[in-house]
Formats: sequence, structure tokens, C-alpha cells
Amino acid sequence: MKIFERWLGINRYLYNSALEHRITAYKSTKVSITKYEQYNELPQIKKDLPFVALVYSDVLQETLDRVDKAFKAFFRGSGFPRFQGKKFYTSFTFKRNISVQGNYIKLPKIGLVKFFNSREIPGEIKTATIKKQIDGWCVCISAKIETQPITIDNSHAIGIDKGISIFAATSDCKKIITPLFLEPTLCKMRVLQRKLARQKKGSNSREKTKIRIAKLHLKIARQRNDFLHKVSTQIAQEYSACYVEDLKIKNMTKLNSTLSRRLLDSGFYNFRLLLKYKFEFRGNTFLAVPPHYTSQTCNVCGYTDKENRTSQSKFKCSSCGHTDNADINAAKNIKAKGISFVSKRKAVA
Ligand SMILES: [Zn+2]
Repeated sequence: MKIFERWLGINRYLYNSALEHRITAYKSTKVSITKYEQYNELPQIKKDLPFVALVYSDVLQETLDRVDKAFKAFFRGSGFPRFQGKKFYTSFTFKRNISVQGNYIKLPKIGLVKFFNSREIPGEIKTATIKKQIDGWCVCISAKIETQPITIDNSHAIGIDKGISIFAATSDCKKIITPLFLEPTLCKMRVLQRKLARQKKGSNSREKTKIRIAKLHLKIARQRNDFLHKVSTQIAQEYSACYVEDLKIKNMTKLNSTLSRRLLDSGFYNFRLLLKYKFEFRGNTFLAVPPHYTSQTCNVCGYTDKENRTSQSKFKCSSCGHTDNADINAAKNIKAKGISFVSKRKAVA
């Protein structure tokens, strides 16, 4: 899409100019320019540089919002905002006047664009971000959903544990396994990564391999997201409340660093987000409970001991002798913990 490419370039130009302006102003006067001051400069910029006026004003404003966000993050302790190269500046965002009809999206100043509408948009469209990806352009739509007030109904509650040997386990003794269709793609990925390691730095063939790897990453992410959407929808339809562990996903990712593991870990994080919005959308409870001892406690007698978990996948209680799959035992504990948590909260309120 030539027009997207053009708009992207203009927005990147604006981003870098606005950033430079802020830096110079700060250096000379020690005063920070606000985003509204930068908004107000847009008409003059359009006069001086007519190509900027090609882009819808809201999109330009959103680009200035990004500069503002980068500065706010810096003042909170993140790194200093950077000038954006072509490789890293890959999107622009519409903040209003977007509509979708079937496989067409209507964008201000651009008009109707055909796209692959992967799922129904459940509410009023708020923003649309046009993003350049290695194999084309994609549009990410955000919508405002009117959620129902949350009620607590534990009659069909489910606990879900992030598995060690499998993707996840549920308190109903179900194992959610890594989708098999991912395997061939993962296999291809390993081959390509080995190839990359052998290729000479800066060579053309190495660049080609890099592109193939990036494309494959995208493919895996899409396949995985489809899978997670299906599973989470099914769970949200079937259960009245959902409890998961409140895990620090990042820490776990560092420990298990094989390729498939990393993908699964980040997948679980997305899975939780999907479950949360799908349960809350229906007015049902979703809660992350503190994970302490959920993997070491016997679900039958409550005995807690490190020795209970005999291996990654086996649980054997050294007090009552109960045996179970370790992840399923943990999922049952998570469910019990979640139910007691919300019941207590209900009693206080
Ligand atoms: Zn026991």
C-alpha cells in the first residue's frame, strides 16, 4: 500500500521533528513543551510543509501523543526518547471516524480499504492502528465494550494453572496441550536459527534468513493467537468464574529459555488477558490469586511440603498418599484459593 507507506514516512518525520523540538527547548530553557503546545503548532507546520497536510490531523496528533508518552516514561525512569529509524517506526493510529463493514474498513482521508476481518468487533470502534509488518500491513482495532457489572457465581468455577510440561491444566482435570500444528513451524524455526548462526555477518544471505525468521515468528504468533482465542472463548462460555495464578511471567521466561518454552510463556500471558476480558465481558468473575504453595499443597488433605512435588509432572502427597498430575493438583488449589478469596471479599462488602 503506497499510501500507507507515505503516511508512515510523514508520521515518522513528524515524530522525530517533535522530539527534536522538545529536546532543544528543554536544553535552552529547561522548560518542557506540552503536547497541546505541539498540537497548536500543527497548522503552521502544514503551511510550511504541505506534505504533512496529506495526513489526517487526528493521526498527526496521535503521533505527537507518542512523543509525549515517551517523555513521560522518561521522567518516570525509562530511557531517553529516541529518534526513530525506518525499521522501528512502523505504525500510525486513527483516533476517530473509523467504521468497518464486512471486509472493508473506512479510514478518514484514505477511504475504503479491503482487509481480512479475522473476528467480530464487539462494540464501538475507538482506534485503528495501521501497522507495517514484514509480510504486509495489518490493522489493529480497539473497541469500547460495555461490560456488565461483575457478579460472583462459583457454581461453575474453574482454576487454571500454567503448566510446566504442558501449556496449562484445569481444575477439571483437563490438560491444555501445546497445539500440535505449531510443531512443524517451530522445527523450521530451529533450522533457520542454526543457519543464521553459521552465516557471515552483514552478508546478503544472512539478511534473507533474518527476514524468513521474522516472517515465521509472525506466522507462529498468529497461529498461537487463533488457538488461544478459541480455547479462551470455549472456557468463558462454559464456566461462571475463572481463577489463575498471579505469576510474574517475565521471571519464568528467563529460567526456561528454549524456543518453544519462551513462546508458550508469552502465550500464557496473552491467554490470561483473553480470559480476563472474556469473563468480565459476560459479567463473570476473573481473578489472579497469589501463587504461594499452590504447587506444593495437597488438594485432598491440605498438607504442604516441598517433597510433595516429586517431579515436574507428578504430585504425590507425603502425608495422605494422594497422587495427581502436578499441574492439575495446582489448578485445583488455585480454584479453591480463588473461591475463598472472593467469598471473604463478599463477606467484608
Ligand atoms: Zn494429602
